[in-house]
Order: sequence, then C-alpha cells, then structure tokens
Amino acid sequence: MNVRVRIAPSPTGDPHIGTAYMALFNYAFAKKYNGKFILRIENTDLKRSSLASEYSILEYLKWLGLSWDEGPDIGGKFAPYRQSDRLQLYQSTALQLIKAGHAYYCTCSEDRLSQLRTFQMEQKLPTGYDQYCRDRQHKDGVLRMKIPPRNLTQFSDLLRGTISINNNDIDDQIILKSDGFPTYHLASIVDDHFMNISHVIRGEEWLSSTPKHVLLYKFLNWPLPAFIHLPLLRNSDKSKISKRKYPVSLKYFKMIGFLPEALLNFLGLISFSFKDGREVFTLHDFIENLDIKRISLGGPVFDFQKLNWLNSHYLKKKENTEVVKYLQEQLFSSNYLSQIVPLIKERINTSDQFLELSSFFFQNFFQIPINDESFKAINKPLLPIYESFFNELISLDSFSHSSIESLTTIFIEQHNLNRKPFFMTLRIIFTGKKESPPLFQTLEVLGRERCYIRLKNAIDILKD
Ligand code: GLU
Repeated sequence: MNVRVRIAPSPTGDPHIGTAYMALFNYAFAKKYNGKFILRIENTDLKRSSLASEYSILEYLKWLGLSWDEGPDIGGKFAPYRQSDRLQLYQSTALQLIKAGHAYYCTCSEDRLSQLRTFQMEQKLPTGYDQYCRDRQHKDGVLRMKIPPRNLTQFSDLLRGTISINNNDIDDQIILKSDGFPTYHLASIVDDHFMNISHVIRGEEWLSSTPKHVLLYKFLNWPLPAFIHLPLLRNSDKSKISKRKYPVSLKYFKMIGFLPEALLNFLGLISFSFKDGREVFTLHDFIENLDIKRISLGGPVFDFQKLNWLNSHYLKKKENTEVVKYLQEQLFSSNYLSQIVPLIKERINTSDQFLELSSFFFQNFFQIPINDESFKAINKPLLPIYESFFNELISLDSFSHSSIESLTTIFIEQHNLNRKPFFMTLRIIFTGKKESPPLFQTLEVLGRERCYIRLKNAIDILKD
C-alpha cells in the first residue's frame, strides 16, 4: 500500500491545537506504513488567510517535530504546498465538471440568498440553495455543483463504517467563486486526487462535507481515497473546544511551558489507547503501536490535569542543564527581557529590585488581589462587560499597544464605563498590582496568550 496522507490547515489565525492533533495522527500513520506526510496550506479564502498565520503553522509543526516529507524544493528543504499556487488546476477541473453537466453557473444576488435563508428559517425548513439557476444556462457567476436528485450517496469511513446520505439533503454547493477562486470542497478534492492521497484523515467536523466530495470524485471518474474522520477534541461538558472556553492556540501551550513531547503524548492519548494500557509514550512508541481500530469515538475530553501530569513527568526526566535551557527560553529569553527592561528600568535602583517590580511578567496566576472579596463584590455585576472585553481583546488583529488602546477607548465609550475604575481593574487583572508600568505597553509585552490566561482567570474567579 502506497500511503500518502496530508494535513490541510487554513492559515487563518493562530496555529490551532486541533491542527497539532490531526498532524500527529497523519504523521504517525505515514511513518507507520512507510508513507509520506504532506502539508498543504489551504489559503484560497484570501480575506481570512495571512502569511503570518501560515508561518506560525510551519513554526509550530517544527516545534512539535512533525515535519512534512514533500513539497516545492527551497534550497534542500520542502516548502508546503499552497493552494493559491494551484488555481489553474481547480479552474480546469471546474471546466471539466461544467462540460460533463455536473456544475452550473448561478447569478443569484446576496440579497436573494439571504431572503431565501430567512424564509426557510421562518418556515422551519432546511436551509440551502433552492436551485433557482440550475437550468438557466448562465455563462458566468459562481459555479455550483449539480447534486443528482433522489439518489443516495454512500461512502465508508474506516472508523465509522458505511455512511449514507440522501442527495435531497445535500446542497448545490458553490465550488468556484466568481473571482475564479475555488471553495474548500473543489480545492480539497482536486488536491487530494493530484497529490495521490491514499487516506484522508481529518476531523469529524468535515464528515458532512464528505458526501459532496464523494459526488465530485464520481463526477470526475476519480478513485476515492479512504476516509478516517477523527473524533473532535471536547471540553469536559462535551462541547467542542473553542477559544472562548479554553485556549486553543499552540502559542499558548508553548508559552505556558508545555513541552512538545508532553503535548504529543497527550494528544495521542486523547483518543487512542495502547493495548497494554500505558499512558506515557514517545512519538516512536505511538507510531509503532498505532492501530486505527483502537481509536475511540467517544468524544475525547481535553483534560488539562492530565496534560500537567504528563508535562511534569517529562520535566523530571530532563537533565538539569536542559531544564536551565528550558527556563531560559520560556521565561528569561533576551527577547522577552529586552521588552520588559524599558518598562522597569526607570523604577529600580539595583538589579535586586527587578524581580519584585516585574514578577507579574513571569507569573500568570496571582492570588491577590483578584481573590479579594471587595474586588469580587465590586466587579461581579460587571462580569458581562469583562466577558465581552475578553472576546474583543483576544480577537484583535494586531496585539500592539496602540490597537489595544483604541479598542479599550472605544469599548469604554460604547459601554459608558467609568474610565478610572475600569483601568484599575484591568491593571489588577493583568499585573496583580495596583501600580504598574503603562498599561497598554505592558499588555503588548505580556502578549496575547498571557493576557488571555489572566483575563480568563479573573472571569472564572468572578463567576465563582
Ligand atoms: N482546511 C481544512 C481545515 O482547516 C481542511 C479539512 C480537510 O482536512 O479536508 O481543517
């Protein structure tokens, strides 16, 4: 069997813990069967994709030690495949689909589509395109796939068995936008086909897209790959993990001090069980023992306690010199210190005072005064305000002091807040102190991940 697998992250936002989870299973599957692990950057959604996000995906895969085996050669190394370099391939496949009568142009306006959606929702009907343009022979517009009526579409998932879906429940999905860019469905099957992907191993959230993909393969007379839809990572209440509830960015996991080997072990353990029940294993062990049949579908829970336990296990095993290096990188890197020093140096006489004044740059969880009863009493009624501030802050495009400042200023106006006490509460939440260096500069240096943890922590305490 010629195993070729891929991960296909979209470079929108921070590198996601789910990408690491998919990467681990795909990587291990490839290694186990002497196959190839491919990285494909799905960047056809121009508005949401960014190069910065793409670079951090690469950086974090390297940090985890999950390097890919193929791609355009850049001086002896492999660049990832990028969908924006492959537009012609999608367009020529789209033409093939039109010629064979499996796709049609649609010129419906946004307005019409949104009225349709509102009507369907009001009538409690399934939402979807009503095929208005299907037989109108337009020559341009967006391209939709023509789902054959009445039939059943079937495919098999190696974990879930045969899955059947009635074609009447499949939407005439847009496959090519009017700017000539493909949507996910078309780009993904074209790439999986031309990259000779043997097994599509991806998250459960794509299960509902697979029937559309299967139909596209059929329209094109292409052989199907095998499908494996892995269970999603979940919170303990079984809801899908999301950044509103828990940090999902790999940047967070690295910043807080989780070691790549602990994180990989944890992600492997989350839905896979070894025959002998062992919980601590190396990547090498994981590859050797990987058996798709031992993946459980029961909604794997993201258990931070387990991750902490694994991390302490790996830390204890390290040589002292390695731990010194780890602490230097995690906490005392020249890069971090040189951002802190300008904010602190005016306030100290000797190095002796440095730690006292800057401790909050290094500690994420402070007891005082967040736990103080009067702090709670004053701020509890403002909980919804802090929650919406949290959502806005963590979603800021750029985490610079100027954007944080303008966000905060607008926020204060919009919510009619009293500036001084709001600033004081923020200072306490982010620094644990009533006095600190200038707030916005401080937040910029702390960075998005540390700010995330502190504000989230404060909100959890206020909720108690
Ligand atoms: N771009 C999709 C993602 O971000 C890829 C899904 C797939 O693997 O087909 O996860």
